[in-house]
Amino acid sequence: AMVATRASEDRGTPQQVDVAVVGAGFAGLYLLHRLRKAGLSAVGLEEAGDVGGTWYWNRYPGARCDIQTIDYSYTFDPELDKAWTWSEKYATQPEILRYLGFVADRYDLRRDIRFNTKVTEAKWDETAERWLITTSSGAPVSCRHYIMATGCLSAPKPPEIDGVKDFKGEVYFTGRWPHDGVDLAGKRVAVIGTGSSGIQSIPLIAEQAAHLTVFQRTPNFALPAHNGPAPSDRMELFQSDRAAYRAQARQSMAGVPYPQQTAVSWQLSDAERRERFERAWAAGDLVHILSQLWADQAVDLDGNRIVQDLIREKIRAAVNDPETAAALMPDDHPFGAKRPCLETNYYTTYNRPNVSLVNLRQEPIKAITASGISTGKRNFDVDVIVFATGFDAMTGAIRAVHPITGRGGKSLSDVWAQGPQSYLGLTVEGFPNFFMITGPGSPSVLSNMAVSIEQHVDWVVDRLVALRDAGFTTIEPTETAQAGWARHMADCSMLTLHRLANTWYTGANVPGKVQGLMPYTGGVGPYRSICDEVVSRGMLGFKLS
Ligand code: FAD
Repeated sequence: AMVATRASEDRGTPQQVDVAVVGAGFAGLYLLHRLRKAGLSAVGLEEAGDVGGTWYWNRYPGARCDIQTIDYSYTFDPELDKAWTWSEKYATQPEILRYLGFVADRYDLRRDIRFNTKVTEAKWDETAERWLITTSSGAPVSCRHYIMATGCLSAPKPPEIDGVKDFKGEVYFTGRWPHDGVDLAGKRVAVIGTGSSGIQSIPLIAEQAAHLTVFQRTPNFALPAHNGPAPSDRMELFQSDRAAYRAQARQSMAGVPYPQQTAVSWQLSDAERRERFERAWAAGDLVHILSQLWADQAVDLDGNRIVQDLIREKIRAAVNDPETAAALMPDDHPFGAKRPCLETNYYTTYNRPNVSLVNLRQEPIKAITASGISTGKRNFDVDVIVFATGFDAMTGAIRAVHPITGRGGKSLSDVWAQGPQSYLGLTVEGFPNFFMITGPGSPSVLSNMAVSIEQHVDWVVDRLVALRDAGFTTIEPTETAQAGWARHMADCSMLTLHRLANTWYTGANVPGKVQGLMPYTGGVGPYRSICDEVVSRGMLGFKLS
């Protein structure tokens, strides 16, 4: 392995490493740790000023994970697992950021990371069999392998509305929240967007603001978090046999250890269904309610509609004003086909006298003006606009590095012109030694991402080691394998309800983005088995040289 050299002031002389890792979030940190242990030199390139990724950028009020934190953790080192105890069932952003900082310290990872360094271009040099990575500051990087750990939800979507620049007040994005916080006391605040970030922040913003106006295009299903101490039944399971608990998560559908349900909705009586639903509702757990009601809830519309009705009933009961309640009830997508949210006081926030909801289905935003937001029907004068409008998910951060040039001068954006193509969501034909962590085509956002990230990183680093030990220098999927994966992805998605919703899973939230379901819907456990089978069958679908 070559010795990593520190970025020199000389921007012309590339830093030479075996592997360049872009991103220092959950994925990038674990990659750097594994690569070092494997004796491969690596540099982390990170746009932010420190580690954390998602948890560095998303500092808005109420930012938390929505997978229980005992599950949303690294599991690669049992000692690390024991060295850290989460204070809550769903940890806040500051606590998760502290955890990632703790991990960076424990394994001394920061010394290999160049912060405030954005990767702008990447080019495969066919003769040298190396990638040349261009950065916004410091030396470029020459590396054998180029790994994008750039995150699925890291490229905030730019506002689609005219006039943002004309607005005289303050503008914030939940995904780029100021580190010193924002004082909203006594201010008239507008929040645009009711996805996860909106639903988490709205109740807290409402407590501070003089008045809060929420602009909603699509209502989401939101379930109570019932946050507090980690629930004792889950903790007992976890602590009685941590290794078995983690192993079950890895083989599960969503990366959280729950059994597969076998009873279908029509085998259960109304009373039994209601009992199951109320139990799930009280558990305050996304994966529980997404997977533990009945076997057909995510694959059959009839089984799904029963869940939808039960949730809408809850919304109706929580919100005093019937018109507001009706506007908050999702009716355009199956439950789970779009990422549901976890909420704390979200629906009841609309019962406050200082909160109002604008239904953009009835009066779309026409423009942002100097003084606020105009829908054409009404003008809303505000002091602050908060964009909680989400991300260019899964492909946004990858495509933002432009161009990524592979063999024969082909650019990734051309290859992906009709939507992302990949083998296993990890690699792309024509782009040797290029890897994506939780890329489009992998379970990614349909899973507990801590589990998916560890699986991807382990698989990639193990492959790089095997490649090196066998004396190969390049790895690349075949065209046939990539086409086969697309076919398999499509087959799997025909079995679930995800295809029936236009969401950020399909690119529908970004104007002009090619439409198609991006994550693999076959489940975390089956996906892991496939990746393992590829290896055990002699790197099936890959060309090595
Ligand atoms: P990220 O954490 O997104 O890190 C990617 C890093 O790459 C960023 O720091 C970014 O600055 C950097 N980067 C990107 N492009 C470049 C470039 N060109 N040059 C240099 N650096 C670059 N998942 C769950 O499983 N459970 C949850 O409860 C959960 N909650 C979430 C809550 C919020 C508010 C958000 C936004 C996401 C949540 N997620 C959750 C998804 C979350 O993104 C992943 O769990 C995980 O943090 C992703 O880690 P990552 O390292 O892959 O990517």
